[in-house]
Amino acid sequence: MVKDCIFCKIIRGEIPAEIIFRDENIIAFHDINPKAPVHFLVLPVVHIESIRDLKDEDSNLMGELMLGIKKIAQKVGIDKTGYKVIANNGILAGQLVLHLHFHVLGKLGKVPHWQI
Ligand code: AMP
Repeated sequence: MVKDCIFCKIIRGEIPAEIIFRDENIIAFHDINPKAPVHFLVLPVVHIESIRDLKDEDSNLMGELMLGIKKIAQKVGIDKTGYKVIANNGILAGQLVLHLHFHVLGKLGKVPHWQI
């Protein structure tokens, strides 16, 4: 946990979020500034800055995150129409919150969605 990380604060319950799913290792909540009709974030409870910081021992956690994305997408009803999964890695790649997270965007239709 990192004191000033906004996502760690959500995990600790210090600031509110619309949480969709949570277990011991992963959490998912709706993005506060959605870029698509459905836009939620899936992230590890443990503070890892980005994919660049993953270690070999994080492989199970990454599997849980991917399977979590699949199950949460089913739960929110975007499974059949499809969805986009994006992770920005590093400030120069557009990462604003330095706690690894996967954007999941659904019901895209004709909304321009090439840039998050
Ligand atoms: P990124 O640019 O990949 O780091 O994306 C960070 C995302 O976090 C953005 O899409 C923000 O809208 C979202 N975000 C920032 N603060 C919050 C918050 N308090 N609750 C939910 N989403 C947030």
